[in-house]
Amino acid sequence: MNSLKILVIYGGGSIMPKDLRLTDLVCLPWPCRYWYPDPGLMENTRRFANRFSDYRGALLPGQSAEAVLPAIVAKIDKILKKIQVDISDCDGGLYDGPAGVAYMLYHVSECPLFSEQRDVYLKTAKQIIDVSVRYADAEPDQNMRAAFLLGGAGIYAVAAMIYKSLGLADFVKPLTKFRNLWEVCAPINFLECGSDELFVGRAGYLCAALVLKQKLGIEVRQTPRDDQIKSICQAIIESGKQYARRKRKPFPLMYSYYGTEYLGAAHGLSSVLQMLLSYQDVLSGAEKDLVWQSVDFLMTQEQNCNWPAELGAIIERENELVHWCHGAPGVAYLFAKAYLINKKPQYLDTCIRSGELVWQKGLLKKGPGICHGVAGSAYVFLLLYRLTGNSKYLYRAQRQAIISPLSHCIYSLFEGLSGTVCFLVDLLQPDQSEFPLFSVFV
Ligand SMILES: [Zn+2]
Repeated sequence: MNSLKILVIYGGGSIMPKDLRLTDLVCLPWPCRYWYPDPGLMENTRRFANRFSDYRGALLPGQSAEAVLPAIVAKIDKILKKIQVDISDCDGGLYDGPAGVAYMLYHVSECPLFSEQRDVYLKTAKQIIDVSVRYADAEPDQNMRAAFLLGGAGIYAVAAMIYKSLGLADFVKPLTKFRNLWEVCAPINFLECGSDELFVGRAGYLCAALVLKQKLGIEVRQTPRDDQIKSICQAIIESGKQYARRKRKPFPLMYSYYGTEYLGAAHGLSSVLQMLLSYQDVLSGAEKDLVWQSVDFLMTQEQNCNWPAELGAIIERENELVHWCHGAPGVAYLFAKAYLINKKPQYLDTCIRSGELVWQKGLLKKGPGICHGVAGSAYVFLLLYRLTGNSKYLYRAQRQAIISPLSHCIYSLFEGLSGTVCFLVDLLQPDQSEFPLFSVFV
């Protein structure tokens, strides 16, 4: 299969076959109109060199909502024609299962620019998430049911959001199921592989609870109570203290997942700390100190604007990862959160350096998703735009869009086109933009 070689870049510049615009990109029939890039464009096996001109005081033309919206709608139609909503195809959760597509539809329907499509998108989202909920209910492993991005907790959370948007009182049902899962993940070693990371561990439960608080509002009684959230945070802190002590780390909190001491957003220290900062109101003074010491420790692990995938590794240029899952495009959200809390300039500077790296090295070949694809990298520019108000970052976000076919899960949220759709919609509403399900502004 040569599908991974197939790629389209928009943006213009001397390396482009023609001046493609965003509307060209999202209108491309799938998968029949391709442009094969100049081999000189390949920087290494993971990415293309960025030869776009940088911001010169003006955004890209032709990016208005009227111009872009029909193309996004067409792209969503294509996704909906392709995805399976049978209960036997619900594996993968929000990450690469149909539930992630339901979240994308919910996200688009929340954008006022898509008011005409809202009802259809929400109804379709409900059909998809209903099947996903049945799948999660039937999951025999209660630990998998408590997983955020790969299991039931994320499905229940998104179901509650979709039902609430449809005005259904039934939103309480999945929400109650979600809340009851706190007991599953409260025991300190509830997962043998590592109990604290984002995809299946406690940080994921906190992340989902945060999204629910943001989307449903604090007046909804059935979201997890403060004492429940507090016990989860305390379990994370205790687990991190025990691990750091056992492994004789010179800093207070550390974690591992399947034996690897990850640092990035996917399974690592940065997203665990980000969630603890997001709930710092329920922490004691001493617990907060441990979290901030760990944040500052992670800042010292920077290597040329990036972070290695695992603690202590040396980044080699040929193998450097610039992904949301591993590297600066994901770690940046921790420092954004830190900056939003205490306004110390070193945290914002760290985010800005991350953005510079992504501008140089973020044109990933791994496809359109948000985990290790170009939409995930480009979200850093929307984050920086929200943090600084500087239009340069909006321009850079506009400049970065690649579409490339992937293997089995090309329509998914984290590895496929649904992630790209979220990014393109957020580009139309940059003041509200957020990496999907991973907010630092709540
Ligand atoms: Zn990834």
